[in-house]
Amino acid sequence: MVVKDMELDWQVCSRARLSRDARFDGKFFIAVLTGRRVYCRSICPAPTAKEKNVRYYPTAAAAAEAGFRPCLRCRPECSPGTPAWLGTPSTVSRALRLIAESGLADGGIEVLAERLGVGSRHLRRLFLQHLGATPSAVAQTRRLDFAKKLIDETRLPMSEVALASDFGCVRRFNAAIRAVYHRTPTQIRRLSRQTGIPLENEYFFRLRFRPPYNWNGMVRFLAPRATPGVEAVESASYRRTISLNGSYGWLEVSLNKSNDGLDVRVQFGDPRSLFLIIERIRAMFDLNADWAAIAQGLAADPVLAMRMQANPGLRVPGCWNGFELAIRTILGQQVTVKGATTLAGRLARTLGQPFSAPGGLTHIFPPPDVLADANLDGLGLTKARSETIRALARAACDGRIGFEGVASSEDFMARMCEIPGIGKWTAQYVAMRALGEPDAFPSGDLGLLRALALESPGELERRAEAWRPWRSYASMYLWTSCETDLQVSADSPEAA
Ligand SMILES: [Zn+2]
Repeated sequence: MVVKDMELDWQVCSRARLSRDARFDGKFFIAVLTGRRVYCRSICPAPTAKEKNVRYYPTAAAAAEAGFRPCLRCRPECSPGTPAWLGTPSTVSRALRLIAESGLADGGIEVLAERLGVGSRHLRRLFLQHLGATPSAVAQTRRLDFAKKLIDETRLPMSEVALASDFGCVRRFNAAIRAVYHRTPTQIRRLSRQTGIPLENEYFFRLRFRPPYNWNGMVRFLAPRATPGVEAVESASYRRTISLNGSYGWLEVSLNKSNDGLDVRVQFGDPRSLFLIIERIRAMFDLNADWAAIAQGLAADPVLAMRMQANPGLRVPGCWNGFELAIRTILGQQVTVKGATTLAGRLARTLGQPFSAPGGLTHIFPPPDVLADANLDGLGLTKARSETIRALARAACDGRIGFEGVASSEDFMARMCEIPGIGKWTAQYVAMRALGEPDAFPSGDLGLLRALALESPGELERRAEAWRPWRSYASMYLWTSCETDLQVSADSPEAA
């Protein structure tokens, strides 16, 4: 694993700032010492300040901690986010995932450090070194960013915005917004020019990425794997049913017309879950990826260089729910992608909760407690595979395997492989898509071997050493060039 400090290169930042380069959006922030003392994205349309009057910060939290306020024009809270894994140790990226999923609400930095298995002072030091800000500053900035997004992009009542963005009470929320923006939440909403009247419990968001973003590649990957009744993919949109904390809903994601972000439509009854829903969508569509760094890292391999040139901006598709992906992957062992999709649809129809949403969505994917002792006869699965599904569901129920990114990917893969019927390939593939691990790599994959005309997993592993820490992205490039059916699991139930 390449570990390097998140030190900003002043010349790179300066060039990106002067040319308003969108590829650097969210990779650093520009603080302006004169005037209103704001911090901006690299793409801010405001007139550029003199170099001597600006400072560069690796994260919005670092700029905020240094006393700068978010610019109201370029809206730093809308930037694609910090590419957490860019040279940071996995403890930092895992911590960021946890903060993204649940904030620091339940217990603060001590609890966060404990869950990660490190000391809180060590965690604080790592954060300062790599992100330029403490864990609590990062959590506070995320809370404020999300509150601002809800104020600008939804019509939620302010009391609901306060709860949804984790402020606990309206008074704390009002005070925090006023301190940062020097305006009340209501004044900010008045400036936001929302159009159209959304339906009840319906929300629209725009999520940015750093271009290029290969939307077609994403859709081509997701479409043949979409579980009938639970997911629906068309060329312009991805749609699925969702379940969180006992509530059901659905979401729809499409490429924005101006090609700089994804448009998201969420229908969900409990606004307190919006934060988590949005973070999951960001992970699912790999919006934090730093294409420039990935392209640079993989360009030395001539096969990859050629494919990247033909198809720039490919991302690693994540998943809505790691457990669901793991089940889908087990169903795919030794059958074609199409065959696995049929099985997944049957499983959802038989054991999922009926839920009707537009465009042919009919079911919620069955959760672990339903599958733990489910009767899977009649679905067309072998006895061994049915037992693997139940065993994984039981492990998820009693907490032996968690999918929310607390475990390091090595721990996660080791625990997955303890389940009879789950081999290395399945564990690596799920880690790659469920944990957002940029360097996960299914080395025994037949499609990868064929794409490079190699004979053995050993040869593939040696070739892949040069792709670190981006082996997940390399895999995507090699898979997309072969027919989808070539991506067949190398695991057999006997192999584990
Ligand atoms: Zn700005």
